[in-house]
Amino acid sequence: AELDAATAAMIADRKKLLGPAYRLFYQRPVHFVRGEGAWLYDPEGNAYLDAYNNVTSIGHCHPKVVEAVSRQMATLTTNTRYLHDSVLRYADRLLATMPEGIGHFMFTCTGSDANDLAVRIAQSYTGGQGIIVTETAYHGITQTVAAFSPSLGENVPLGAHVRTVPAPDSYRSATGDVGAEFAAGVQAAIRDLQRHGIKPALFICDGIFSSDGVFDGPAGFLKGAVEAIRVAGGIYIADEVQSGFGRTGDAMWGFQRHGVVPDLVTMGKPMGNGYPVAGVAGRPEVLAEFGRKARYFNTFGGNAVAAEAAMAVLEAIQSEGLVENARETGRYLKDGIQALASLHPCIGDVRGAGLFLGVEIVSDRVAKTPDAAMTTRIVNGLRDERVLISACAKAANVLKIRPPLIFTRDQADILVERLDRVLSRCA
Ligand code: PMP
Repeated sequence: AELDAATAAMIADRKKLLGPAYRLFYQRPVHFVRGEGAWLYDPEGNAYLDAYNNVTSIGHCHPKVVEAVSRQMATLTTNTRYLHDSVLRYADRLLATMPEGIGHFMFTCTGSDANDLAVRIAQSYTGGQGIIVTETAYHGITQTVAAFSPSLGENVPLGAHVRTVPAPDSYRSATGDVGAEFAAGVQAAIRDLQRHGIKPALFICDGIFSSDGVFDGPAGFLKGAVEAIRVAGGIYIADEVQSGFGRTGDAMWGFQRHGVVPDLVTMGKPMGNGYPVAGVAGRPEVLAEFGRKARYFNTFGGNAVAAEAAMAVLEAIQSEGLVENARETGRYLKDGIQALASLHPCIGDVRGAGLFLGVEIVSDRVAKTPDAAMTTRIVNGLRDERVLISACAKAANVLKIRPPLIFTRDQADILVERLDRVLSRCA
């Protein structure tokens, strides 16, 4: 891919200044200077349709969040060692969206930070160490959490106390009963931990299995796995960093599609629409032991500006009907992409819930052979058409489409039309 001089210079500066660990999206990386709603703008003023960013989930630079952050930043920013009303009002309102039984909320700054804390709580509650995750899960970057994030690859080894289970792959299910297959995987992992003298502490999964390839259904399939971990003395942690805050369209939280109540729920990314704020909600009895033993202070976690940003986001999701929009526009977009499947044989499966879709790209529909090279061509082809998406899954062959919750039908039409063009070109 040809890069213009300005882009090439910026990439060189990044390498020089930020070092070797960072990665960019796309063969021709993009530079943005401004965002509004579902649109991002490059320095020349070209508009790109953002169908990927799950942080600015209620739209780039949402005026209510901008107002709330500016107002609170100009008034006071303080931490949880002082009394402040914002954190209490937010915790109260957030907990009101949770099922009965979840009664406390703890503030962190990032999703990794939330999962790290959740593991400490789980291990202190259960007295166990063992952790069960899906094969291509991603849960974050701390030492503890990277040790159970297999999607980081073989160069980041999993902990000796970690076991992986196959993703709940509805497309390739051998028996057609995804729930039973998935629960059997969790049971096998529990037995293997026990055989090695490791007491299971927790089973954690992302509410829509984002990095495993976006597996949304059938609704309810999680029940058996959750039961299995509890019978073994462990707890179930719902990682809602990607699937939370209305994303999946049926409810505020991804786990609600499965009719299960987690012991702990972690969240982050879209919680502040770009302002860093994250946290852990949980059952009081699960938090009790940790609270007795540990003193918890997180300097920026639960600062007043973060709480106000998060409050504005929750307010907007509820008053603008964004869960309903995720459901309805998500269904419309899914139908549009599904219709492309009859024209383009590389589309093996279209799945997902709300505004979180996965499109599996295969070289052979009968054999269901993953086609990572084609997937890369489509993602980059769309970028050239100024539509932003990415890819996921173990075989890197699933288009990951995750537009903001304010996405409109017109924007869905643009996405489908350009995807159609790219698929015709790439075939
Ligand atoms: N859990 C999931 C499911 C995630 O997708 C991510 C971020 N991609 C994290 C945890 C970690 O969040 P953060 O990057 O805010 O630390």
